[in-house]
Amino acid sequence: MKPTGPIPSAFAGQSMLTLGGQPYDVWIKQAGDTPLFVYDMGLVADRIARLRTALPASVAVHYALKANPFPPLVHAIAPLVDGIDVASSGELVLALEGKLGRDISFAGPGKRDDELEAAILAGATINLESEGEAERALAIGKDSAIRPKLAVRVNPDFELRGSGMKMGGRASPFGVDAARAPTLVRHLLESGADWRGFHIFAGSQALDSDAIIETQAATLTLAARLANEAGATPPLVNLGGGFGIPYFANDSEVDVERIGESLSKALETRDEILKNSTFAIELGRWLVGEAGVYLTRIVDRKESQGETFLITDGGLHHQLAASGNFGTVVRRNYPVAVAGRMDVEPEETVSVVGCLCTPLDRLADKVALPHVEIGDVIAIFLAGAYGLTASPTAFLGHPVPREILTRSRQT
Ligand SMILES: *Cc1c(COP(=O)(O)O)cnc(C)c1O
Repeated sequence: MKPTGPIPSAFAGQSMLTLGGQPYDVWIKQAGDTPLFVYDMGLVADRIARLRTALPASVAVHYALKANPFPPLVHAIAPLVDGIDVASSGELVLALEGKLGRDISFAGPGKRDDELEAAILAGATINLESEGEAERALAIGKDSAIRPKLAVRVNPDFELRGSGMKMGGRASPFGVDAARAPTLVRHLLESGADWRGFHIFAGSQALDSDAIIETQAATLTLAARLANEAGATPPLVNLGGGFGIPYFANDSEVDVERIGESLSKALETRDEILKNSTFAIELGRWLVGEAGVYLTRIVDRKESQGETFLITDGGLHHQLAASGNFGTVVRRNYPVAVAGRMDVEPEETVSVVGCLCTPLDRLADKVALPHVEIGDVIAIFLAGAYGLTASPTAFLGHPVPREILTRSRQT
């Protein structure tokens, strides 16, 4: 038997899996069938409220849309956050529909001219990833007679320690190396752009609260140093984010309350040049990851050389991350349960696999579950972020799964 990650506290201890106050099978009926992603909007709203309480009131909260761009979810989140961070023109269109009036910022390497133009026309802030991109944005601004809102994404000279995906302290396709950022800022100001400040993102999926605290302090110090070198106060310092969620056995939760207290102190003692700056953090996974559950039905049950395989109507084409093929080095099990019998003691060791003709398609490897029959529904937790849109849906040509959003208790 192999361990699984912890079932998120909102669902742990249930006897029948319940989302948004309704048993899981109500959502399956409403959506039509499995495979199905259910996103519990009440949990997302609770998360945002908890974060707001924990953080200093002056720190804006942005949603990083790529974590989950399901339109009903984006529309429900938009009024609860201060900004939306997008990384393509498709996401820009979605953010513009979902939420007029909120700050939209556009990051990502390789922005095409048509994407830069769309962002400038929409009044979004472009987080510049290079000097070359700056020149193209300035030229498009001149041609369209709109003063572009441009921030400088900085490749920091440190990394977010312990993060699953490191985005700093090394050569990087993201942002401008810290040493060259002040020169670029001066150039933007001389060219008449509306310089919006710095965007400094040092990593993703960090569970070590001390590392996050250190990184936020280092980010403030770096922003102050670059601002002093450039001789200008950044209107906004986007401090990045990187708060992770526990996916695997022995993973722990981020302590957002402690992080908020430390950030508050760090902001109180910030450098004079940042006195009139505003601050933001941008989060995707931490806001939505635990609120999503992937439901897939058992189609077949078979034995092979002493092992039991449960074969589902879903797979890695919908939830690649649970198969261990999305940015993990060693395959480990996500939390899983039999949705209708969460409180029944495990009786057997089984592997839950998808319906794709590839041995990569393993959703849970040698896990302990209650006895499972054909027709039972398996819940795979932590499917709210980097789930469906981070999976190769076209691979093998199965139908795309359904998605459904439960109503928020707060909106
Ligand atoms: C992906 C991304 C995020 C969101 O990261 P999470 O780990 O989902 O919180 C935030 N900012 C930038 C620049 C990103 O690329």
